[in-house]
Amino acid sequence: MARGIWVDEDECISCELCINNLPMVFRFAASGKAECYDPDGAPEEEIQADAIDACPVSCIHWK
Ligand code: SF4
Repeated sequence: MARGIWVDEDECISCELCINNLPMVFRFAASGKAECYDPDGAPEEEIQADAIDACPVSCIHWK
């Protein structure tokens, strides 16, 4: 079981980068902001590099 991931919806600018990079992990919530729906959808290293480090407003966090 992978670590949980939390997206700060107040900070997310809906740029879609994390969703494009890791569609098996992130999707848009009904709010129009990104959410993590499956933290097991990719290796932790990929989530770190392609979502957490890549997010332009640094609003994706490990729980
Ligand atoms: S990369 Fe960051 S700002 Fe862009 S959609 Fe994902 S969480 Fe939101």
